[in-house]
Amino acid sequence: MPKTRKITYRGETHTIRKWAEILKVPASTIRDRYMAGVPIDQPQRKKVILEYGGESHTIKEWSEITGLDPSQIRARVGAGWPPERILSPVPKKYARKKAAHHTKTSLCWQCKNAVPSPWTGAGCEWSREYKPVPGWKAEMRERTNLKGSYFVFKCPKFEKG
Ligand code: SF4
Repeated sequence: MPKTRKITYRGETHTIRKWAEILKVPASTIRDRYMAGVPIDQPQRKKVILEYGGESHTIKEWSEITGLDPSQIRARVGAGWPPERILSPVPKKYARKKAAHHTKTSLCWQCKNAVPSPWTGAGCEWSREYKPVPGWKAEMRERTNLKGSYFVFKCPKFEKG
């Protein structure tokens, strides 16, 4: 008969099954956390680094950049979407952000040319080659770890998407 493993945590010693009852999580979760050497009462989230457009950021940072909800980005990552889809704007009917939010984000996040597509012809100098679009009004921005990105205010190639 296999020996029942006991875990001592915060001064209490219990079996994995008992800890699972106390913490109201599956025993497998307790076992995984214990084996990973992390606190058994805290959900562990792996730091996901997403690469897109030559930049690498965490979900939190992408959320600040795009205005998308972090849980939305995380769900899209979990669904296995490609980066350009993960970071694309939320369709209008699902958008939960207030209108005020749009003043904090670059015009690109509402533009269908932000995601180049050989099928629809969507795209622009910026989304394809990271070159300024002639005639745009944009400002170099530095936010958290984001360096050298543009915040676009006006753009002759903007198309609501
Ligand atoms: S066309 Fe202009 S607004 Fe649209 S993605 Fe390109 S730079 Fe941004």
